[in-house]
Amino acid sequence: MSAPPHATRAGASGARLPDTQQGMRRRNLARVMHTVAARGPLSRASVASRIGLTRAAVSTLVDELIRSGLLEELGPERPGRVGRPGSALTISGRGPVGIGAEVGVDHLAVCAVDLRGDVRARTSRRVGNRGRAPEPMLADLADLVHKVTRDVEREGLRPAGLAVAVPGLVARDSHTVVRAPNLGWHDTDIGELLAPELPLTVDNEANFGALAELWLGDGAPDDFLHVSAEIGIGAALVVEGALLRGSRGFAGELGHVPVRPDGPACACGGRGCLERYAGEEAVLRAAGLPPGPGRVDLLTERAAAGDARVLGALHDAGTALGIALTGAVNLLDPRAIVLGGALSRLAPWLLPCVEGELGQRTTGPGCTVAVSRIGSEGPLLGAAHSVVRAVLDDPAGAA
Ligand SMILES: [Zn+2]
Repeated sequence: MSAPPHATRAGASGARLPDTQQGMRRRNLARVMHTVAARGPLSRASVASRIGLTRAAVSTLVDELIRSGLLEELGPERPGRVGRPGSALTISGRGPVGIGAEVGVDHLAVCAVDLRGDVRARTSRRVGNRGRAPEPMLADLADLVHKVTRDVEREGLRPAGLAVAVPGLVARDSHTVVRAPNLGWHDTDIGELLAPELPLTVDNEANFGALAELWLGDGAPDDFLHVSAEIGIGAALVVEGALLRGSRGFAGELGHVPVRPDGPACACGGRGCLERYAGEEAVLRAAGLPPGPGRVDLLTERAAAGDARVLGALHDAGTALGIALTGAVNLLDPRAIVLGGALSRLAPWLLPCVEGELGQRTTGPGCTVAVSRIGSEGPLLGAAHSVVRAVLDDPAGAA
């Protein structure tokens, strides 16, 4: 995409420009950041040719981004085929960082990711959060956020925002958890309780997991259905590179799609939900194993050893997952399904059942089923990277 010709006249100081040129300048700063982030290190001339601006215009933008601590100059770029070598630009590893946090049913985790995508600090705590009041849980989370914030600030980094992944429905205001059945939360305003000093975003863990796959996964298309499971099962649909959130923001509750309408009662108030057949606890129960930390490792070990009860539990889980996904595929026609979270580690046993059900039940040629390499880290990394993306999308706002 090339910019209109007047974009090249954007001045060095945004303050002197009228609104339309301010908007153009901000968009061009974002284009420079995204280009260097995706293709760097690059010279100013290379950036200019890639985004269709003059080298002088790009130099002005680059100078501003260097002053803001968002870009850095390396040594001279290796000579190209045309022109003199320029100094190579790279995304700064010393500027803003995104703080991501995850509230899980049995853990809390926080990490910091810099603009290059490197994790600069992280911490986590195993804690039973089911049925726990939000206040003490969020006080624990605030402690972890402060620890990570202190760690990165000691390195001279600057937290730009906090994004929290939760296993529940999040209102469009991006800080209220309307309902989290596995935590027992209703209308919990995380913004009020956490009161962070940083700009706050809260989103469903499945949404952040899908965004992590979109931004960090290798080869995910721009249209896919991402399915992840821990205790609960969530899904998120990415269409043309953006989340499809639904009218209230609650889309993707695949775990509460009924697989057997007369099945066992579910925490959501329904019966026979997918989660009761393919959620981690349901699979452990069917396999005759007690719930607890590290149980997915135990499931994979026993399945690899040929334990008949475990293999039967995984077969039933994969079949239930395939039935629920059949509805999603027939309705939404995604290009691919990506299995993430704990599902990715159980994929060798789940995948044949899922593909079998989809093959039998879907119309048309079906869609591919891929396995995420990000696994259970998706929601936490997706949360942190959402802050990083916001900086790349509007570097002037982060300066
Ligand atoms: Zn349910």
